[in-house]
Order: sequence, then C-alpha cells, then structure tokens
Amino acid sequence: MTELFGARSGGEKVGENEVLISTARQARENAHAPYSNFRVGAALRATSGRIFGGSNVENATYGLTVCAERIAIFKAISEGERGFDAIAVVTDTDALTPPCGACRQLIWEFCGDVPVILANLKGKIEVIPMRELFPKPFDSSNL
Ligand SMILES: [Zn+2]
Repeated sequence: MTELFGARSGGEKVGENEVLISTARQARENAHAPYSNFRVGAALRATSGRIFGGSNVENATYGLTVCAERIAIFKAISEGERGFDAIAVVTDTDALTPPCGACRQLIWEFCGDVPVILANLKGKIEVIPMRELFPKPFDSSNL
C-alpha cells in the first residue's frame, strides 16, 4: 500500500481512487479479448457520484474493437451523465497502461482535465492529469 501514498495525487482522495480502481478491476473481468488476450478494465466517475465500468470488447475484424475507456464513457453518456471527475484504467502489466490516442481524444472531449488513474493487479498506481497525457488537444475550441 505504500505505493498508494507514493503515487502522484491529482488532489483527489486515495479512498475514492480505490473505489474506481476496484470497479475497473471488476469490469476487466468481463473483457472480451479472445484475439489479444489483453484484458483492460476502466471506470469513470461522474460528478453525480455514479461510477461506470467498461471493459475492452474485441471483434474478429480487429478494427471494430472498442477500448474499455470508451465503453465506460459511452455507457455514462448514454445514461444521461455529462460531468466527470476521474477515470481509472486497470491492466495486468508491470508497466502501467495509459489510454490510447483515440481514448485520450474522447476523455478530453467528455471529461476535460481529469486525473487518469493507472493501476495494475499488483497494486501499482500512478495518477496522471489529462493535460499531461494530451497536452495539445483538438476540441470544440478549435472549431
Ligand atoms: Zn483506447
């Protein structure tokens, strides 16, 4: 647990991060990843307090695969949520897995500069603000 306290904190409470990480771990159990065997879980917290989990869902075409982060975002948006304050991503890798480029675009669009909590199954955690993961975003301000 020392890594929890050594992790960079984006100003959020550790206990709240634990709930998000645990939800992402649970969502990861439902990953449909028969092609890559790379199972990912995500959890998105709305400002309403509701938490939406997501897992990656692969497809035989590969290209139609959708990442865990985007599943969580689409679930929340389709349930009427609009404001979000954190997202967690859990994988079973020693090096923590950040969101891919497509997911960074969507996280920025719907969540803005939220803390992105990366974790693995061994308890390693790092919190990175979206502005560091996505420093020069294209968004509605460019239109
Ligand atoms: Zn992605």
